[in-house]
Amino acid sequence: MINRSRRNIALSIFTLIALIGCGSEDSTLSSTTTEETDATSTASTLIVEVDPFIFESNALASEITTETCTLTNGDESSCYRINIAGVPANHDIGIFCPTNISANADEAGIWFDGNGEVFDITGDFIVSLAELYNDDHWQLYDEGTGKVNITDTYASCDGAARPNVEEQYQNYCVECSIDYVDGGISASFLIPITPVITTSSNSVGHANVGVALNGVELAAPAPVDAILGAYTIAAFDDCAGHINLAVGYHYHGEAGCSQTQVQSDGHAAMMGYALDGFGIFGMLNADGNEPSDLDQCRGHADDIRGYHYHAADVAENMFIGCFKGAIAR
Ligand SMILES: [Zn+2]
Ligand SMILES: [Zn+2]
Repeated sequence: MINRSRRNIALSIFTLIALIGCGSEDSTLSSTTTEETDATSTASTLIVEVDPFIFESNALASEITTETCTLTNGDESSCYRINIAGVPANHDIGIFCPTNISANADEAGIWFDGNGEVFDITGDFIVSLAELYNDDHWQLYDEGTGKVNITDTYASCDGAARPNVEEQYQNYCVECSIDYVDGGISASFLIPITPVITTSSNSVGHANVGVALNGVELAAPAPVDAILGAYTIAAFDDCAGHINLAVGYHYHGEAGCSQTQVQSDGHAAMMGYALDGFGIFGMLNADGNEPSDLDQCRGHADDIRGYHYHAADVAENMFIGCFKGAIAR
């Protein structure tokens, strides 16, 4: 990786070329912030551009490039093309499932189903599933040996780490090795450089929500109904990520592992970008409090970061409530 100052020079040269090549239309490339009047109020909201230099070293599979793009509100715009490496740049992957019902919290990951609680997947948790989900069909372990049923082969990962779990993998703790996807799957994100607030917010839908600064996809909520309906636990590691064969390692919640951009004023640290180009920060500020003025998208604005989001509690199986801005089509 080239260092920051060299990349800044590279960006300056690029900006100069863009200005010469494209005329005044691209003049926003040279500024870092713009003021935009919110259509729903007379107050103007500070808009902060995406910073391509705050991703962690090794988070990206290639240099960030710029291309024209069409946004969901019809605007022709400039977007950053961000290709992530598909493995977290700043932490290990795993552990996911416990091997035995004697396991403690240090020997396994976590589980959350969106109902407000985060469970350590201890042996006791594995044993308690029938009671927790009020269904005697739950039996994720061998009663004689205490061994937990784990999808520990490529074939079982393939059959179980999906919404339509194959029946033979009912009552398994589901995990996949990153080796099954050749060490990680690169993913590409097209994000508007200058976010544009739209008059009506947009549902986050079933696709991914954004990208973490450490190079991990921020996925749509995990399909917990399908997972639990198949009597499986699709174990997350302590960073709220897990692996499937389609997208590799991805996060379903903000567990603190990607908060790499600490803020000097006590504001929550930044952890990524939503697809609309607005930054996503941790849920809690340094004083331990969640901002009280978040909108339905989990966003608000201040004089330093402009409009931005605060991630939901990891137990909620989501990051943000909706997109405040337009995303690339
Ligand atoms: Zn997933
Ligand atoms: Zn904030």
